[in-house]
Amino acid sequence: MTTRVVIIGNGMAGARLQEELHRLDPMGAQVTSVVIGDEPNAAYNRILMSNVVAGRIRPADTMIRAAGWYAERNLETHTGVRVTSIDRDARRVHCDDGTVHHYDRLVFATGSRAFIPPIDGAITETGAPIPGVIAFRNLADCEAIVSALQEDTRVVVVGGGLLGLEAARGALLRGAQVTVVHPRAYPMEKQMDAAGGAVLSRVLREIGMDVVLGTRVTAVRDTPGSGREVVLADGSTLGADLVIVTAGIAPNIELAAEADIATERGILVDDQLRTSDRAVFAIGECAQHRDIVYGLVQPGWEMAETVAQNLLTREPTGYEGTQQILRLKAHDIDLASMGEVDTDPSDLEAEVLTLSDPHRGRYAKVVVRKERLVGAVLLGNPEVVGTITQLFDSGAPVPTDRMTLLLGHLTGGATESASPAQMPGEAIICRCNTVSKKNLTDAWRKGARNPLAMAEATRATTGCGSCESVVEGLCEWLATADA
Ligand SMILES: Cc1cc2nc3c(=O)[nH]c(=O)nc-3n(C[C@H](O)[C@H](O)[C@H](O)COP(=O)(O)OP(=O)(O)OC[C@H]3O[C@@H](n4cnc5c(N)ncnc54)[C@H](O)[C@@H]3O)c2cc1C
Repeated sequence: MTTRVVIIGNGMAGARLQEELHRLDPMGAQVTSVVIGDEPNAAYNRILMSNVVAGRIRPADTMIRAAGWYAERNLETHTGVRVTSIDRDARRVHCDDGTVHHYDRLVFATGSRAFIPPIDGAITETGAPIPGVIAFRNLADCEAIVSALQEDTRVVVVGGGLLGLEAARGALLRGAQVTVVHPRAYPMEKQMDAAGGAVLSRVLREIGMDVVLGTRVTAVRDTPGSGREVVLADGSTLGADLVIVTAGIAPNIELAAEADIATERGILVDDQLRTSDRAVFAIGECAQHRDIVYGLVQPGWEMAETVAQNLLTREPTGYEGTQQILRLKAHDIDLASMGEVDTDPSDLEAEVLTLSDPHRGRYAKVVVRKERLVGAVLLGNPEVVGTITQLFDSGAPVPTDRMTLLLGHLTGGATESASPAQMPGEAIICRCNTVSKKNLTDAWRKGARNPLAMAEATRATTGCGSCESVVEGLCEWLATADA
């Protein structure tokens, strides 16, 4: 008897779970999986949408697998179909196309939707944004943004977090006039401290963005003759042909709550990713694990791998959480942030080092506790990001002279661009897929002799793609060192 697993959501976590089940059990001897997703297209890499807005790739380039990949492997996927209710007693899900699917195990991978703050005139009676107001979450939103963007389009981005800044940078690259409106004193306040935020604001303005801080967009309205405008909290207005809303996300938990599965901010799960119903799991952005609801892909992919393992083995493994490192993927702005970033310099338990070079758009801060690096903000310092993330990940003791952490390139420390020979085997090269240098060198020894083959063997580079140059460097190094 095979176990029938129904996965709700054909996003990054749901599609990865199906792929992982297939990888571990290619003949479907133990498990058959069915993915039901309400988006019309096959699974795509949501992270790459910012590159589509920036004009670097086309929407089709975001597809995770080539057309036909799932069908060729007999993987059942229903796209454009929404699960509307769950009958847990009968173990069935009901869909909006009238279909009903039986399950032995059910997995919620319903992700999040864009949160739209209260803005008068922005929402129709059905709750959808009016034309010209787009919440940036899915490929349809991305395509709508791209088709609305032209030279000199007046764009207002509501929210200066990671998504807002990536969308704003992309729109600027297409020649639009862009204003970011953010309610706090500086952008990305969850990942930056005030001093770093001030340097970031300066960098954004220098590349041509208007950044309006400490206020909110309260209304969107048509103006006779000149299109549309947004109204700010102080009553001032900004002309806006296009309003992109990137004001946060809300996990999709309603379907679970209606089925009486325990939810708080997300769907509550234990270390095996089981919900309050032992036959039902939740992974990705809809799950709340150890009180954390994640907003990045790496945790969702790790959760998918844990569930796949557990569905196929009698010895379950546990998911223990993911150390989050955030990197902004915007042309000309290199920003990495991890762990504690807003520690008070007078905190006697912590060592806080900062280096500020606003003129050149650079800022670096590291926080050390008990000889371990527990937080960092690195703006405009790509050369030290590799060393700092390795120390953050591994919990290894930091150098006696802490200053070398900030000045890695001057003192000969291992850096992102330094020889791969210097990296320890456990250094994580691809964060999205949690692939270490050792995983890559093992793949090399098994015959993966170029970045493409390494991606096929380990999945490195297939997330946000920011590790591509490191994987290329590693291949070049191995070609000479391990010929
Ligand atoms: C523009 C952008 C840039 C990003 N950049 C980064 C980045 O650089 N690094 C990073 O780590 N993360 C990034 N993220 C976040 C990352 O994309 C998410 O963490 C990831 O997609 C979460 O995967 P998920 O499967 O949980 O949710 P999703 O990928 O959102 O998938 C959930 C799917 O379930 C579907 N669904 C919901 N309810 C139902 C239902 N009832 N029936 C059927 N289907 C349903 C949804 O429509 C959706 O298709 C970015 C996100 C965006 C939008």
